[in-house]
Amino acid sequence: MVFRWLRRIRRAYYLRKKRIPFDVWQSSIDPLPVLRGLTNAELNRLRELSSLFLYEKAINGARGMEVTETMRVQVAAQACLPILNLDLDYYDGWHEVIIYPDTFIVQHEEIDAAGVVHQRRRVLEGEAWDRGPVIFSWQDACPDHSAPEAGANVIIHELSHKLDMLNGEANGMPPLHAAMDRRQWTNIFTQAFERIQYQGESGADLLIDPYAAESPGEFFSVTSEYFFVAPHILNASFPQVYQQLSNFYRQDPLSRY
Ligand SMILES: [Zn+2]
Repeated sequence: MVFRWLRRIRRAYYLRKKRIPFDVWQSSIDPLPVLRGLTNAELNRLRELSSLFLYEKAINGARGMEVTETMRVQVAAQACLPILNLDLDYYDGWHEVIIYPDTFIVQHEEIDAAGVVHQRRRVLEGEAWDRGPVIFSWQDACPDHSAPEAGANVIIHELSHKLDMLNGEANGMPPLHAAMDRRQWTNIFTQAFERIQYQGESGADLLIDPYAAESPGEFFSVTSEYFFVAPHILNASFPQVYQQLSNFYRQDPLSRY
């Protein structure tokens, strides 16, 4: 258990000595469309948070992936965007980001209702373990391959799962602020989730990635991606969800575009 005051002193000391150098910061974030529209004050705060993120989390490559300084800064900047107006403490309880060059395969054991164990192999772009690492494929995260107009950002997706897991399993409701109404959040998200499930089944054209219909936890993370990357699409489809996310993240990305 780290005392908060001790941590504050340590962070302030670190920021004085080891802030990401401005030229490295600028050249790394330039290619990231998701950060366009932030004010200079917001970018300064993001640089501080990103510096501390790199101080407190290890970023490791897997399967021969070499992680460069630019990549580290790009990961940190996108990881810290959701907590820009929250706090780095929201990322407590885990210490590592693992980057694969490409999609990766995970094997899960699942026990069905009859007690039979099934081995499931899944090909993933990203994954966030409860109290464990955040993992994603660089191919799906690197700026050259990102498609912001489609609302995709695997880093924001996985980090929003981390926020969701702060109060138990990823069920689509992170710890809300005191001024927020839990019942209102639940009603709005449940209605929106049911609508996207219905639209998926009826074959209707979805504006949002149909993966959001997978579970309430995925709905929260997919809509969080849109919130930051393509807020106009989310606001057009689910304005009340946009508003709730705006209350939670304490940001209004629509005003940036
Ligand atoms: Zn997910």
